[in-house]
Amino acid sequence: MTQAGVAVTSHAGNLLFEPWTIRTGAGGPFRVFTPFWKACLAAGWQPPLRENPELRGGETSVTSDALGDWGLLPRSPDWAAGFPAHWTPGEQGARARLEEFITDGLSGYASLRDRPDRPHTSRLSAHLRFGEVSARTVAAAICQARDTGAANERDADKFLSELGWREFSHHLLYHFPTLPHDNLQPKFVAFAWREDPKGLEAWQKGLTGYPIVDAGMRELWRTGTMHNRVRMVVASFLIKDLLVDWRQGEAWFWDTLVDADHANNAASWQWVAGSGADAAPFFRIFNPVLQGEKHDPDGAYVRTHVPELARLPAKYIHRPWEAPSSTLFEAGIELGATYPHRIVDHAMARDRALEAFKATRG
Ligand SMILES: Cc1cc2nc3c(=O)[nH]c(=O)nc-3n(C[C@H](O)[C@H](O)[C@H](O)COP(=O)(O)OP(=O)(O)OC[C@H]3O[C@@H](n4cnc5c(N)ncnc54)[C@H](O)[C@@H]3O)c2cc1C
Repeated sequence: MTQAGVAVTSHAGNLLFEPWTIRTGAGGPFRVFTPFWKACLAAGWQPPLRENPELRGGETSVTSDALGDWGLLPRSPDWAAGFPAHWTPGEQGARARLEEFITDGLSGYASLRDRPDRPHTSRLSAHLRFGEVSARTVAAAICQARDTGAANERDADKFLSELGWREFSHHLLYHFPTLPHDNLQPKFVAFAWREDPKGLEAWQKGLTGYPIVDAGMRELWRTGTMHNRVRMVVASFLIKDLLVDWRQGEAWFWDTLVDADHANNAASWQWVAGSGADAAPFFRIFNPVLQGEKHDPDGAYVRTHVPELARLPAKYIHRPWEAPSSTLFEAGIELGATYPHRIVDHAMARDRALEAFKATRG
């Protein structure tokens, strides 16, 4: 471009910090989130630049095809039919979402962000993923809400630290480019994953017999997204209850998530598997029933996404196999016919996973 007489400058826009600018005292990359985020906060980030009204696009018109003629939208089946109800792609949609979140969702974020039945997360991830809003714009808006008293400090700082996890994931991908394919911790190379095509398919279709897992996987298919807490639960279920290699889950999320992002997706799957940097230990295995009862206590999230269970009382919504047959009958449920039996017993699966992990360490 310089040869053509055009000056080109590149500006950081996708992240708060370029990954090579945040380093440990020894000059290497951080592998642990808390000191990484502390270093980021100490460095401070640039606020976004104001829009420059004098900047104009090229004047030349370009002959082009009409985008609709390319037939890019899915038709048979139209798996994206449910997407427009959940977001409006583009810069305007992103700004509207950010404003709505600050007005209605940010207050209570720290304590309610783990509740998939409550609207307390920003749902900005796809907008951030496609650069429709920048991390700096989002961070500046949150800081402003905090500094003017429109949001309390705890909620704002918790939200900023989640943006910090996004920074950390991108930082990891930059320093460890094989993150989407290779275990960051070498001991996992020898892990005895199971081949379980039937289990994988039941998981993908939301037919595992565990309501919170099925609700998450069906939310993903219908809307192109899934609540963060439920992502952790379904990932733990695939990796630890079914012992399927995390890369098969990562690939499915990559195909189905609208916010699919190489850095966040791979780092998060390795975090759940225990094979990544600053990961949850492998032996921390989510119990899908207790997770459901804790984070979706009335079962509202399950009822939305698994309608065949909608009439089940809250007491049994996360454990339908324990419901008396009269209760199932009244709710119009026949296990094995209208809703599947559990494809695996969690207690057995947990012991099996711990044995496999022990063998790897041995
Ligand atoms: C197995 C698994 C896979 C995931 N795959 C992706 C992915 O492909 N793309 C993606 O953007 N996020 C991914 N995440 C992280 C997280 O689930 C989503 O960013 C979050 O659910 C998006 O919803 P939100 O915008 O309402 O989040 P909010 O809670 O409002 O968070 C604000 C922003 O912070 C960032 N963020 C929040 N949590 C995380 C996190 N744990 N890691 C990295 N960034 C985070 C996102 O950019 C998000 O938009 C994954 C998490 C898990 C457990």
